[in-house]
Amino acid sequence: MPRPYYRTRSRKRVKIKVPGDRLAVHYKREKVKPPRCRQCGTVLSGLPREVASEIRKLNRTRRRISRMFGGQLCPQCLKTALKQAVRAG
Ligand SMILES: [Zn+2]
Repeated sequence: MPRPYYRTRSRKRVKIKVPGDRLAVHYKREKVKPPRCRQCGTVLSGLPREVASEIRKLNRTRRRISRMFGGQLCPQCLKTALKQAVRAG
């Protein structure tokens, strides 16, 4: 019986040939949900879909988009927000 935290279908199972001509089931790490826009909820591109510990290993430019609100708002929402800010102020 696998350990309790492996008893979920959200972890991918891979059959791997091991010495002795046996097949063993290995469990892949769970994928995290992709980052989404704060306003409209669309999936943001250009950002890693990894757990925080893996993101920390990446270099700075791969962690986030180097734009204002990069990694928080999608380009369309940022465009409208900037327009509103300019018109209001
Ligand atoms: Zn958006």
